[in-house]
Amino acid sequence: MLESPESKFAVAAVREACTVIRAVQKNLVTAALTKSDKSPVTVADFAAQAAVARRFAVERPSDVLVGEEDAADLRSEARRETLASVTRFVGEVAAGATSEHVCAWIDRGRAEPVQRFWTLDPVDGTKGFLRGEQYAVALALIENGRVRLGVLGCPNVRADGTLDVGGTGSVIAAERGRGTWASPLGLEAWTRLLVSGRRVAKEARLLRSVEAGHTNVDEMGELVVALGGTAEPVLMDSQAKYGVLAAGCGELLFRLLSPTKPDYRERIWDQAAGSIVVEEAGGRVTDLDGKALDFARGRTLAGNRGVVASNGLLHDAALAALRQVGA
Ligand code: AMP
Ligand code: MG
Repeated sequence: MLESPESKFAVAAVREACTVIRAVQKNLVTAALTKSDKSPVTVADFAAQAAVARRFAVERPSDVLVGEEDAADLRSEARRETLASVTRFVGEVAAGATSEHVCAWIDRGRAEPVQRFWTLDPVDGTKGFLRGEQYAVALALIENGRVRLGVLGCPNVRADGTLDVGGTGSVIAAERGRGTWASPLGLEAWTRLLVSGRRVAKEARLLRSVEAGHTNVDEMGELVVALGGTAEPVLMDSQAKYGVLAAGCGELLFRLLSPTKPDYRERIWDQAAGSIVVEEAGGRVTDLDGKALDFARGRTLAGNRGVVASNGLLHDAALAALRQVGA
């Protein structure tokens, strides 16, 4: 398992964020929720970022954190009730937390990327969170444009990569040169993850986003054909997909460009932890052109188009298929 102080810190922070998010889900996500009601997501996002950022404030005060959220909106009068709710959930892991503390912690995440910094997606896959399906907490350490450490909290995936909504969940951690390791969320029982050994393209199990707007559904169909396969891709929200691939429960993950947003560029917090989790399990991650992901371009992967992650053995076949369909 991983021994560095940074990895122990990140695992503990991600575990705590998962505890907070699960409490929000249990208390606020009800059957009566309408599809457009994003309030539980908002509370979970802010509360999880506050919990992680509080740990930075206490344990690593000089480290830089680039988070998805900031508290500007939360400080407005219109959000008074949301802030009260966020503060209550944060208070369950940080006794005595006030609304002022919570906003200040969240705003630690406003930093701009520098030579060495952390990046956080407090709830990746918010649509999955609302549907009661897959979501993840993602925290990564980036140095000189390269991910050095990544931790995913996946409350609805087992440590062996199988899906288990409402189960024990897992924390998956990878450090450059030290492998990818998984443990049940609430236990210290680490096992090393390795990607699958499948090398026949037509047998590849594909993973993609649930949200059609985050990919290109027609192109995905063409890719399946180009690879010689017949099976439909497995649809899953969040970087839980990378954890599943790292555990050998899938071979190819495509983030194709949506035809409605061809200029979309990936956010660093959506890819950093997931990419190292796959690489250290023996897999490969590039953009759709086969280029390495460049995390030195600010808050987005401005120099890359989309993402393809694989078990390594099938990466060249995936890139060839992408060229064939013109993706
Ligand atoms: P997924 O769960 O795989 O659908 O990925 C969720 C992430 O996709 C969110 O955190 C968003 O930041 C990101 N996202 C938002 N819009 C797009 C888009 N047009 N294309 C790709 N990803 C997007
Ligand atoms: Mg996200």
